[in-house]
Amino acid sequence: MKLIICGAAGRMGQALVAAAKALGHTVVAGVEKKGVAVAGIETTDALKPAGADCVIDFTAPEVSLENARTCAAAKVPIVIGTTGFSTAQRAELEKLGGTAPIVVAPNMSVGVNVVIGMAAELAKRLGEDFDVEILETHHKRKKDAPSGTALKLAEEIASATKRTKSDFRLVREGQIGERPEREIGVQTLRGGDVVGEHTIYFFGDGERVELSHRATSRDQFARGAMRAAAWLQGKGPGLYDMRHVLGFL
Ligand code: NAD
Repeated sequence: MKLIICGAAGRMGQALVAAAKALGHTVVAGVEKKGVAVAGIETTDALKPAGADCVIDFTAPEVSLENARTCAAAKVPIVIGTTGFSTAQRAELEKLGGTAPIVVAPNMSVGVNVVIGMAAELAKRLGEDFDVEILETHHKRKKDAPSGTALKLAEEIASATKRTKSDFRLVREGQIGERPEREIGVQTLRGGDVVGEHTIYFFGDGERVELSHRATSRDQFARGAMRAAAWLQGKGPGLYDMRHVLGFL
């Protein structure tokens, strides 16, 4: 494939350029902020998608949204790994999915996407007697919290157990009283160089189930993004996620 990588100098950008080369794809351009150069590839500060088979974007929400608009206008598929979209930004992505094929996934790892499905299933089978808490840990430079993956886990568990976002508890402080039964707690740790860890706890009376995923390298996110780009080739318009790419949906 002929690929354009947005955010090519970033932590994920570098992993994506390396993965693309290792898989024999051509990186026709890397898009970066003005003045930022990326060794070994043509770098530009303006996304021009015409002629590319796919654009892969791991930057920041407002940048990815603008790039999605550009790709939709040019009818070029785009894979977005950026996290931290607001509800309004997410709604615009849904709309853009009406004109171009787009994959948006807060976590491109195969393992995490299996864990998301298993967590929803566990929540359903364990039932309301088990309290659900999600703990995520990431490196100290991560800008958004909680992680997109932790929120996705909470959403899938909520939809499997007929709960809503109003049951999410992202902060606890002060005299908060007893834990409401249907609450889904989402807590965040930040530090060091942790690539990404998620644990879902199901606390029962006298027993506890834990489901964990630990990413030890960014390479698997990059490989997942390449898989998403290949899967998008020839697809019609739509807003897809990694579970479509991996055949779970
Ligand atoms: P990073 O800060 O290392 O990289 C982001 C890059 O985008 C930087 O090089 C920055 O210069 C560039 N950028 C910013 N504005 C730009 C613009 N206007 N035009 C072009 N380039 C621009 O961050 P990172 O750790 O690589 O993460 C990037 C995003 O990907 C974050 O939202 C992160 O949460 C997400 N992420 C997703 C996955 C996944 O599997 N989906 C995995 C890891 C990280």
